[in-house]
Formats: sequence, structure tokens, C-alpha cells
Amino acid sequence: MNVLVTGGAGFLGSWLCEKLVQKKYNVYCLDNLSSGKTTNIDSLRKEKNFEFIRHDIISPFGTEEKFDIIYHLACPAAPFQYQKTPVNTLLTNSAGSLNVLELARKNDCPVFISSTSEVYGDPDIVPTPETHRGYVSPIGIRSCYDEGKRYSEALFKAYERQYGIDTRIVRIFNTYGPKIRGDGMYGRVIPNFIRQVLKNEDITIYGDGNQTRSFCYVEDLIRAFILVGESEIARGEIFNIGNPHEITVNELADTMIEITGAKSKKIHLPLPEDDPKRRCPDINKITQTFGWKPEVSLKEGLQRTIEWIKTN
Ligand code: UDP
Repeated sequence: MNVLVTGGAGFLGSWLCEKLVQKKYNVYCLDNLSSGKTTNIDSLRKEKNFEFIRHDIISPFGTEEKFDIIYHLACPAAPFQYQKTPVNTLLTNSAGSLNVLELARKNDCPVFISSTSEVYGDPDIVPTPETHRGYVSPIGIRSCYDEGKRYSEALFKAYERQYGIDTRIVRIFNTYGPKIRGDGMYGRVIPNFIRQVLKNEDITIYGDGNQTRSFCYVEDLIRAFILVGESEIARGEIFNIGNPHEITVNELADTMIEITGAKSKKIHLPLPEDDPKRRCPDINKITQTFGWKPEVSLKEGLQRTIEWIKTN
């Protein structure tokens, strides 16, 4: 099996590459290293069945290699980062997804995309099922990402309808675990809070902290990626992937303090524009189709992530 993973040096991409290398597939990892890191794939580069290709998917990717499946993960995903270069975020999801689909067409192979819960925007049905059409601002600061991913999804379905391409779409909810970028500039809530509690600094809660998220441990998520990527039954389907355990940002901060025994205090900063109030997946479809459900509890996953951030 020859597998191409775009965004393969990123947080999720490098975990996916690792699992595919373990399955003895030939893994081609494509990344422009804008948010991915070579340290994520250092150990894989020693393997014979792994190859790293530095390339930005916004430009067409020409290769003689024949792929049996493509996993398209390339895209900045942290709000701070995708908002810093919004034009690139949109191009990755338009030109980038187009290039990936053309490659799938040439190879006549299945193509998988990691879309996002952000296509639901600020949903009025929570837990949110795949049938929800979303409540998204086309001009808000998050629109480069959420409208970008909506366009990618539309393009995937268009290729399926017009050219008969085998597409699989997953909408992923907040994910965390080792290899998540812990440097402040990416500013996602879990690495931010971990850095703060490890130094006994104030925990920065945006807004009143009553907004909710549902956090899925990365290995649970990657298991679902491979099920969807490899099962014929997933052809043409869309699945939510996430952990339906919904908690407020305040509760997340309290859990961090409890686990680490930190002396940090919670402080409140302004809520970013268009910050969704609630986010939680309805995972009935993927559970009924594959029997998949998350196995790692938030406390266990946080402990593993804290250990990784301490040593990295
Ligand atoms: N957040 C926070 N403090 C931080 C970073 C984020 O309170 O230091 C909040 C943020 O406003 C959002 C939630 O935590 O409500 C999750 O933010 P993140 O950037 O991780 O991802 P999002 O779910 O917004 O894409």
C-alpha cells in the first residue's frame, strides 16, 4: 500500500504516519512545515517505508508514485495561526484541496479529508449531528478556516458527483495529546493551560469560561481516521469524530489544577470574536457504523500530554 499524508509532519498527521508505518505501508509524508515540525517525524525518518517530501500543497504536486489512498490533513488549525495568514488558510482549502483531488483522480484512489466541527460554526443543536448545516459567519475572523473547510467539503462532493471519486470526509472536534504544539504562539487552550499550571502562573480564561468544548485524545481520533480511510462502507460518507464528554473551559482549568496540584489562579481575559458557545459531537453515526468510541478519559489523556510537554 502506498499512502500519501498531506500535513504529515503536523500534530495529527505525524500520529497518522506513525500508525501507518507500523502497518508496514509505504508512507509519503508531505508538509510545508508552516506549522508541522520535523521533530514530529524524526523517529519515522529512520524507517525504510517512510519518506518526507517538503512541499506546499497550494502548488500542484507532481510525482511518478502511484498512491492507493490519500489522507488530506494539510491546513493550519489553531485559531491564532489560521487567522494570522487567512489568505493561505483559504488557498490551502481551495487550491490545496483541488490539487489533492486531482491527484486522487489521476491515481483513481480513495481520498480522505480531515474537515472540522467548525463547519457547524456556533450550532443551535448540541451535541451536533452530521446533518446540521451550520451557523457560520462568511466574513468573521474564523471564516478563513470554517468557510475554507466548507469549500473543501463541497469540492470533495463535487469531485465525487462529477468524476466518481471515492471520497471520505471526517469532521474532527477539539483534539489534544502529545505532539500538540505547546509554544505560546499557537495558543490553543490545552497547551496554554498546561504551560501555565506547570509554572504556577495564572490560567487565562477567555470570557466567563462557561463556553464548552469536548476534547478527544489523539490516539482515539487516529484509530477512527484509519477505520474511515480503509473501510469500503465509509465511501462517500461524512462522520463526526470526537469525544462527546462536554466540559466548560472553567471546568477544564479546574481539572488541570486538580491533576497537577498547581497554585495557579484563574483570570479572565476578553473573549475572542465569534468564539463558539458550545461544541460537542453527536457520534452516533460512527459508533453505529464501526463500534468506535473514545477510550481515553480526559484525566488520563491530560496526564500523558502534561508528561510530554514537560519533557519536550
Ligand atoms: N481559551 C481560553 N484560554 C486560552 C486559550 C483558549 O479560555 O488560553 C478558550 C477559547 O476562547 C475557546 C476554547 O478555550 O473558547 C478553545 O479554544 P482553542 O483555541 O483551543 O480552540 P477552538 O475550539 O476555539 O478552535
